[in-house]
Amino acid sequence: AQLTRVRSGEEKIYVTVRVRPLSAKEVARSDASDWVCTSEQSIAFKHALQERSPFPAAYTLDRVFGPDCLTRRVYEEGAKDVALSALTGLNSTIFAYGQTSSGKTYTMRGVTESAIADIFEYIEHNTDREFLLKASALEIYNEVVKDLLTPEGVPLRLLDDKEKGTVVDKLKEEVIRDISHLRQLIKICEAQRQVGETSLNDTSSRSHQIIRLTVESHPSGVSPGIPSASLIASLNFVDLAGSERASQTHADGTRLREGAHINRSLLTLSTCIRKLSGGSAKKGHIPFRDSKLTRILQHSLGGNARTAIICTMSPAHSHVEQSRNTLAFATRAK
Ligand code: ADP
Ligand code: MG
Repeated sequence: AQLTRVRSGEEKIYVTVRVRPLSAKEVARSDASDWVCTSEQSIAFKHALQERSPFPAAYTLDRVFGPDCLTRRVYEEGAKDVALSALTGLNSTIFAYGQTSSGKTYTMRGVTESAIADIFEYIEHNTDREFLLKASALEIYNEVVKDLLTPEGVPLRLLDDKEKGTVVDKLKEEVIRDISHLRQLIKICEAQRQVGETSLNDTSSRSHQIIRLTVESHPSGVSPGIPSASLIASLNFVDLAGSERASQTHADGTRLREGAHINRSLLTLSTCIRKLSGGSAKKGHIPFRDSKLTRILQHSLGGNARTAIICTMSPAHSHVEQSRNTLAFATRAK
């Protein structure tokens, strides 16, 4: 059957900030919090109003989640709408952006869990359509793409498909039987990522991870008033490389090259997102092709798409520069 890709006609990007609690280590070294959540939608540097402060009086986002906020609420208010859009045929992407140790993986794990629980509940209750779910997962490290569902770890090539756009050649895609099957796959890919972490000294902070669910649905009977088209969309959960790499330069060769790659992909992502959220007038050329991350996500970001970005930050004084960079990114993305 012909699969329809729904057009949303709107690419507003939903941008939220989540401040994690101070860690035990930060508390132990009396690293105090620098930030105050001034409303449900704003956050301010404590001393922003002092003379010659480089901080704006406040940063305004779609939502700000303070250190006491549970992941469940971050999901409900920051990602749920976007996640569930995939069930109605809209490509959707949820990003976690922030420096290493700011809570990206912690947040993304909880958001993914909540989203898949909701998706399975929706599917169970919507008996007028039949759903088919598939999952794949990959990691991009130094512009090299690897499958997180297979242990081989061979680099995968990107191909341009006339119909589907950029596809990752030979990426394993599993048809999902039930929610425990999907949870099991997510565990496999977390384990795969940790293998890299121990052998290569925390690659997870220097790589992007994408878990992609493909949701297909077909009408299960001929009932009046029910959309008869078959729908297909992908839902991407993206745990980005630590954003500190976008600004840091390292002395030795490997780190320098990594820095350059991460720098380029996060900068390209930032440019694409800024252009997408800027409204059609400012759009112009969107440089999706400048990095593998944006090439892979192009279809899910441009045109027929919903996007949520959860920016994570540490409240600690010692991280104030990185937190400021993160908030600047968040504000630009909105
Ligand atoms: P990142 O993926 O950005 O490097 P992590 O998600 O690994 O950061 O978080 C770093 C540490 O902080 C982890 O030990 C994690 O459990 C903890 N952490 C992060 N966010 C929260 C939070 N909102 N509440 C409690 N602990 C958190
Ligand atoms: Mg992480």
